[in-house]
Amino acid sequence: MRIRRSIRGASVSMSRFDPRLISEPLEQRRREGTLRQRTIISSRRGSRITVDGREYVNFSSNDYLGLATSPMLMAAWREGAELWGAGSGASPLVTGMTAAHEELEQFICGFLGMEAALLFSSGFAANQAAVKTFVPRGGVIHADRLAHASLAEAAMLSGARLFRFRHNDPVSLRRSLELHGPGLIITEGVFSMDGDEAPLGAILSLADEFHAPVLLDDAHGFGVLGDGGRGSVSAQGLAHSSFDLVVGTFGKAFGTGGAFVAGERAVISCLVNFAREYVYSTHMPPCCAHATLAAMKYASRNESLRERLRENIAFFRERMACSPLEILPSRVSIQPVMAGSSARALAMSSLLRERGIFAGAIRPPTVPQGTARIRLSVTAAHTREDLELLASALDEAGRLS
Ligand SMILES: *Cc1c(COP(=O)(O)O)cnc(C)c1O
Repeated sequence: MRIRRSIRGASVSMSRFDPRLISEPLEQRRREGTLRQRTIISSRRGSRITVDGREYVNFSSNDYLGLATSPMLMAAWREGAELWGAGSGASPLVTGMTAAHEELEQFICGFLGMEAALLFSSGFAANQAAVKTFVPRGGVIHADRLAHASLAEAAMLSGARLFRFRHNDPVSLRRSLELHGPGLIITEGVFSMDGDEAPLGAILSLADEFHAPVLLDDAHGFGVLGDGGRGSVSAQGLAHSSFDLVVGTFGKAFGTGGAFVAGERAVISCLVNFAREYVYSTHMPPCCAHATLAAMKYASRNESLRERLRENIAFFRERMACSPLEILPSRVSIQPVMAGSSARALAMSSLLRERGIFAGAIRPPTVPQGTARIRLSVTAAHTREDLELLASALDEAGRLS
C-alpha cells in the first residue's frame, strides 16, 4: 500500500494487489451494509466502557465473571510480570516454557481430572492444532452445524471430509456416522450465538458405539457452569476424561487470554511434536499464565461469583418475561434477543446505544438468514441498575418494527 486517497470517506486502495482482492470485496460489504469496523474503547472498568467520550454499560463482553478488570487479577498479572518478565521470549520447545506455564497446566489437569494439558496463545490456535493434528487427510469430521468459526476453519483446512450434523441433534449425528463412517466428532459445550447446551451424554454414547473420538470446546461453559466452574461436562454430570480432546479458553470467564487443550498424555505429546501452531509460535507470556492460574483458582473457589451471575441472569429473564421480544432459552450469560431482519437488529442496537447500552447486532452470515439478533451478555459485574436500564431500553426496542 503506497498511497491512499479518500473519496467520500471510502479509502481507495492504490496498492499493487489485484482490486478483486481489496476494493471490490470491501465495496460489496459497504453496499450490503455489512462492512466491519472496530470500536475503540478509551477506558473500561467492570461493566462500564467509554467510547467517543460517552460511558456505556457493556452488554457485549465475554468477561462473564467480571474478572478482567478486577483488582485481584490485575495484581496477579503485575506479580507475574515481576516474577517472569513481560514476554516468554521463545516458542515452548526452545526456552519459552516456564514453571509458570507448567503450574497452570498442572492445575488444569487436576481441575478437570485429565492427564495432560497444553497452553496456546488463543482458542483459535488451540482449535487449529486440536483438529488438524488428529484427522488424517481424506478422513472424516462430524461437526455440529453451529460449531465456532475456528473449528470450522480447522476442519476445512484439515483436508478431511467435513460433515455437519444438525445443531444439538444426536439423531442427525448418528445418521452422519452411519453414512460417512467414524471420524472426529466436534461439538461445543455452550454455543456462542444461542447460549444453548449440547447433549453431551448422547454424543458420548454415539462416540462409544461408533468408536469415534470427540473434541469438546467449552469456551463458554468454563468458569460459568458446573461444580467450581468446571463447565458443561460437570453441569451434565459427566467426566472430562470421557472426551478425547477438551478445549477451553482463558479470554472469557477467566478474564485473561489464551487457551488450553487437554487430553491423554500421548495425545498431548502428539500436539507438542506435531502441532505447528504450538511448535512455531512464541509461547503465551508467562505473566499471562501466572495471572490465569490466579483467575482459575479464584473463580473455582468463589461460588459467589457464579451465584451473582445466576442472580443477574434470573433477574433479567424474569424482568423480560412479559416482553413481546423473543429471548432464546439460556441459563448462561449469552442471552440472544431475536430481531429477525438485519435492519431491525441494527435499529434495536442503535436505540440501545442511545440509551447508554452497548450491545452488538449479530447478523448473517454469523447467524442464519432471518435470525439476526442482539446478543446480550449478562455478567456478574452488572448491577441491578444496569439490568433495569437494559430492560427498559429493550421495552422500547421491542416496539421497533
Ligand atoms: C471464543 C471462542 C474461541 C476462540 O478463542 P480465542 O481465545 O478468543 O481465540 C474458540 N471456540 C469457541 C467456542 C469460542 O467461543
